[in-house]
Amino acid sequence: MIGLLPRRVLPVLMYHRIGEVGQADPSLTVTPPTFARHLDWINARGFRTLSLDEAHDAFRSRRFPRRSVLLTIDDGFDETLRTAAPLLAAAGQRATVFVPSGLLGREARLEPSYGGSQAHRPVSGSIVDGAGLTAWVNAGHGVGSHSLTHADLTKISAAEAAREATESKRLLEDLLGREILDFCYPYAHHDPAARQAARAAGYRAAYAGEPPTQSLWALPRMMVFPDDSERRFARKLYGYYYWLSAWHKRVLRTSDEQ
Ligand SMILES: [Zn+2]
Repeated sequence: MIGLLPRRVLPVLMYHRIGEVGQADPSLTVTPPTFARHLDWINARGFRTLSLDEAHDAFRSRRFPRRSVLLTIDDGFDETLRTAAPLLAAAGQRATVFVPSGLLGREARLEPSYGGSQAHRPVSGSIVDGAGLTAWVNAGHGVGSHSLTHADLTKISAAEAAREATESKRLLEDLLGREILDFCYPYAHHDPAARQAARAAGYRAAYAGEPPTQSLWALPRMMVFPDDSERRFARKLYGYYYWLSAWHKRVLRTSDEQ
């Protein structure tokens, strides 16, 4: 359902790589100064970054605390977590990483999926290892599953999707000694079978992308781009972004039909 009113949503921001651009895709990479600036914008507006438990409570009850935001980071590149952790600590804020748990400590090359007609380069680098992920959790940050191998659940069999959802949960739980209750679809792609795989694996919710829905199995997130202006970033923080983009799409659709 699009057209949610701003007050009826918890803003969930989605990052991918945080670090130096180097060979990486600049459109999916937020540099350390830019990430620090985003945290300043969050603090300047008195926003608090939520834990996954708090975010889940909000989505389940549909009672959205004011000036609250969930920061999520997909893929768990080692450089990203090493870069983000001290900046988050300095800002007194927290984030949640969604990791493909079968790739911990390994080099990964993830195919791009965002940007429509824009040509994105694959995102590559080493994924955080077990010790790094443990340190991340001990610093007060959250962890969820991003499948086992970063497979697109909409393109594999139901049995494979079930394994991606179930095995990734078990691996993270064995490593961290805590329940892993939140899933995030690789590429934000999901369909009824993918949502069923996440549900059957014992998660309580699954994060996706846009458009915003009220389903716990397709929780909405907004991509943060490195060139977001303060105004555009603030629209995402306050949830106006959803409303404006839904309105914008409606206008576009209307003009298409004319
Ligand atoms: Zn991903």
